[in-house]
Amino acid sequence: MADQDEDLVDVDPNDPADGSLPVHRWRQAGAGLATRRQLRAMGLRPGGQEPVARIECRRGKRFAWLYRIDRALPKIPMTLAKEAALDKAMEARQRCPGPCGRRYFHCLPLRTLGSCLECYDGTQAAPGSYMHYSVGHLAAAA
Ligand SMILES: [Zn+2]
Repeated sequence: MADQDEDLVDVDPNDPADGSLPVHRWRQAGAGLATRRQLRAMGLRPGGQEPVARIECRRGKRFAWLYRIDRALPKIPMTLAKEAALDKAMEARQRCPGPCGRRYFHCLPLRTLGSCLECYDGTQAAPGSYMHYSVGHLAAAA
């Protein structure tokens, strides 16, 4: 037990091993806040935000910063997040709002026809021009 360490440590307010934990202070900190470790457990990360509060124990010798959960970001790589956002934007232009509900590999003439050619005038779409998994599957994944 080296009490002289003044390092920033990441304490877990729910850790029963630390008997000196000021639970009342934790409660005062309010809901919607979490330490880095708690964010991590929720699959989140601070995401560049400044800590909004501090939780102390051992008379302030050990403490952890508290972050706002609503400002935390998912703990997935930025490239993946961007890709997902991009894909959503693309899907809006590639998904036929007509009866077929297919997602094509190309953008649909939604402004002019409002749907794919097949839904518009019966021109059958080439089987290779759209994705072949079910709409239900995609909805579940979204
Ligand atoms: Zn269609």
